[in-house]
Amino acid sequence: MDVEVLIVGAGPTGSMLANQLARRGMRPLIINRHSGPAQQTRAMAVQARTLEIYSKMGLNEQHTH
Ligand SMILES: Cc1cc2nc3c(=O)[nH]c(=O)nc-3n(C[C@H](O)[C@H](O)[C@H](O)COP(=O)(O)OP(=O)(O)OC[C@H]3O[C@@H](n4cnc5c(N)ncnc54)[C@H](O)[C@@H]3O)c2cc1C
Repeated sequence: MDVEVLIVGAGPTGSMLANQLARRGMRPLIINRHSGPAQQTRAMAVQARTLEIYSKMGLNEQHTH
């Protein structure tokens, strides 16, 4: 298999990296040693610093549906 970028780890860091690369037209391959998501929640709250980063990326805009 021929891939430009291989991301090892599909947690928040790897997932965000894959997302950002895809937004820029790249097609990264992301792999993880587990076949599915973790069974316990790890996202009860979003840290303020995370929201700042989302804001810089334009990801925290409010949408009405
Ligand atoms: C119980 C719990 C509750 C939490 N609650 C919150 C919360 O409410 N709010 C918050 O902001 N944060 C929370 N956190 C912290 C948050 O989960 C971490 O900060 C975040 O997951 C880190 O993301 P990451 O992508 O860097 O690492 P990880 O989420 O650890 O992802 C790394 C991934 O890489 C995979 N991997 C590792 N090595 C290999 C390998 N050699 N080959 C293939 N795959 C590999 C792992 O399986 C994993 O899926 C919580 C954490 C825990 C444990």
